[in-house]
Amino acid sequence: MKILFDKRQLLHAPETYFRQGVAIKHPEQPERALLLRDALIADGHELTQTSNHGSAPIKAVHNTDYVEFYDTAWDRWVEYGGAGTIAVPNYHISHGINRLPKGIVGQLGYYTTDTACPVTDGTKEAIYWSAQTAIDGANRIMEGENLIYSLCRPPGHHASRGNSNGFCFFNNAAIAAHHLRQKHDRVAVIDIDTHAGQGTQDIFYDRGDVIFTSVHVDPSDYPPFFACYPDERGIGDGLGASLNITLDKGSNEIDVLAGIDQMIAATINFGAQAVVVSLGFDMATDDPLSELNFSGDGFVGAAERIMALNLPTLLVQEGGYLGPSLSNNAVRFLRTAEAARRN
Ligand SMILES: [Zn+2]
Repeated sequence: MKILFDKRQLLHAPETYFRQGVAIKHPEQPERALLLRDALIADGHELTQTSNHGSAPIKAVHNTDYVEFYDTAWDRWVEYGGAGTIAVPNYHISHGINRLPKGIVGQLGYYTTDTACPVTDGTKEAIYWSAQTAIDGANRIMEGENLIYSLCRPPGHHASRGNSNGFCFFNNAAIAAHHLRQKHDRVAVIDIDTHAGQGTQDIFYDRGDVIFTSVHVDPSDYPPFFACYPDERGIGDGLGASLNITLDKGSNEIDVLAGIDQMIAATINFGAQAVVVSLGFDMATDDPLSELNFSGDGFVGAAERIMALNLPTLLVQEGGYLGPSLSNNAVRFLRTAEAARRN
């Protein structure tokens, strides 16, 4: 199948990540995308340059002020003086009154909900092209292709309309799902990353035209912590169009695939006409962020179930970090998906 990618997505290269008070190497490295790209090319997929569709599809999902913040954030950080090699906030918004301040340090804290989304000198380019890779995939689906892989990096599903979170800046899957609505009346997001896609849920929570379904580790003691519990089902027009299936740490393929079966049933019941898969490979047992017992066979089972929907399907890359099985799991998932499409 076609693999959409733009090498400018590699330009976001954060060095440091704070985990439990310890500065470690940031897990979301450009090398992830190169490993995935090269393994999939070697397995016969067709690398395709992402086309530019401009910022309007991004601003259709994200607040304009948030999108435009990244246009100048790095330059303003450098101008501030005494700044380090990553722009990371040491102040964050509170639960109470929040005003957008003028200065870069305060604005970073306003738009950034954690320390996992530092801005570097290449972040602006990387997040723009990661979003374009999703938008271009959605465009191709609307033009009649029925299976595309958008190798988005940085990932997107933790980003809400107006804030970054969990390595994510622009919500590539949500942007693609909204973009698909130009042609498809009802769109499903199927999120199988080990972390809940709370940004995606938030964006569509009150909408009845996009269903969000997700299987993930119970957020009560695991990121993203603050949303995507099973009792969140949507509000207003979106009531019933959010489905969160949580897993205990240590869950295995049987548990995950049972969750995906429920998500597939909900997607059919919803009457979806196109699917965006938030495709994380960080459920894998050997992923550095994993809390599950999940093998390559599990990814094959996931691909079989999603492809059995027999709907136009856009695969959007989310998590999956530098563990030994990362590229092999991607190869197996895409190989299964393509074989199912041919049958
Ligand atoms: Zn993840």
